[in-house]
Amino acid sequence: MFESLSKRLEGIFNNLSGQGKLTEEDVNAALREVRIALMEADVNLKVARKFVERVKEKAIGANVMGSLSPAQQVLSIVNEELVEVLGGSDGKNKLDLSGNPPNIIMLVGLQGSGKTTTAAKLANFLTKQGQRPLLVAADMYRPAAVNQLKTLGKQLNIPVYAEQAGADPVDICVHSLDYAREQARNVIILDTAGRLNIDERMMQEVMNIRARLQPQEVLLVADAMTGQEAVRVADDFNQAVSLTGMVLTKMDGDARGGAALSIRSVTGVPIKFMGVGEKTDALEPFYPDRLASRILGMGDVLSLIERAQETIDQEEALKAQAKLQQGKFDLEDFLNSMRQLKRMGPLRGVMEMIPGFNKLAAMPEMEEALEGDQLKFIEAIILSMTKEERRNPDIINGSRRKRISRGSGTTIQEVNQLLEQFGEMRTMIRQISTGKGPWAQLARQYTG
Ligand code: GDP
Repeated sequence: MFESLSKRLEGIFNNLSGQGKLTEEDVNAALREVRIALMEADVNLKVARKFVERVKEKAIGANVMGSLSPAQQVLSIVNEELVEVLGGSDGKNKLDLSGNPPNIIMLVGLQGSGKTTTAAKLANFLTKQGQRPLLVAADMYRPAAVNQLKTLGKQLNIPVYAEQAGADPVDICVHSLDYAREQARNVIILDTAGRLNIDERMMQEVMNIRARLQPQEVLLVADAMTGQEAVRVADDFNQAVSLTGMVLTKMDGDARGGAALSIRSVTGVPIKFMGVGEKTDALEPFYPDRLASRILGMGDVLSLIERAQETIDQEEALKAQAKLQQGKFDLEDFLNSMRQLKRMGPLRGVMEMIPGFNKLAAMPEMEEALEGDQLKFIEAIILSMTKEERRNPDIINGSRRKRISRGSGTTIQEVNQLLEQFGEMRTMIRQISTGKGPWAQLARQYTG
């Protein structure tokens, strides 16, 4: 996500910070490059131009701030402006379910944008928040859509309301209201018909459903990979049915970011979620501030923590934390942490969110190591150790290493490598928990 834009911006800021004092000339030259980088990322021309103008204005006004270096000042202003362009922090990007239940969320969008998948993802997301959603198959235009939604609903154990082929979409939506009440469902998600292109009939159908059902949320599902085309589609839909928000899908792909960075400024419609994969849990609430720091390569610690909270066994985590504080982190804890990390989903995605690790994660070797059987190796090696060895790794001498490698079917080098990795992690954790050393410094830098 945003990899090439990130890289470009990073290069520009690295150049800047290499210089002591910045002249207006330096700043202008850097901002010219920022504008080009934005346009290469397929950001709308006007948005890019306005962006750079605002940064320039602020940068000139900010001359007096003493604590940051000039380059840091420019970076921090660019960060602020990025947050602004992505939708600011006005809270409008939150889903609104404050109406009388059942609250209705209507999804609209072109065929192939990911509408049906998003309906299921959204239902899954809401279920995790303690809501009781009902999915409604009202896309009668794409033949496979109804079955696709039924299959996804079954997988997630979420009911799907559907009718026979040929039924009228408006009727289906109206009937689903009764069904929701019968089944004690408090949120209704309508998957409405898409078309390959915007056409009169689709818009009319969408308008009819909107008028009859009065949904609390009308969300456009748009494919971020289509760049400026997504912005145009959003504009058209917004004019016709007045959207309350958007879901940008396929943000995991090589989307250059143009859609995400332009769509809010051009249409005024807030982005509420982003789709980051094909699976039903690959949906994230949209936070402008977090995305901005991700784009600027500053990592996204908050999303990471949130995802960790969802998947990590809290009790285990507390135990590990207590041990850490007592300086007793051992190989068993190491194995547990690795297992927990693995449960958090593709490790690469996790690494991308950690400051400093995002560059590592982009390396192909790293990808292989993370996606492959690395954890199985680690498990095999640690499980071949005696309890005493796991608790007190410092006693693992040469002959013990030999035994462990034989027992786990690995080479001595691999055992050494693991112990080295563990040693590094222990040092890092010790430094962070005592607040001393370079790792602690790095952690402070990102957690404030
Ligand atoms: P619809 O015609 O709008 O209902 O589109 P679908 O829900 O059938 O999605 C079209 C294709 O896009 C499917 O292959 C989905 O798996 C894929 N898709 C949807 N959302 C995402 C996403 O966030 N990331 C990725 N990589 N693929 C997605």
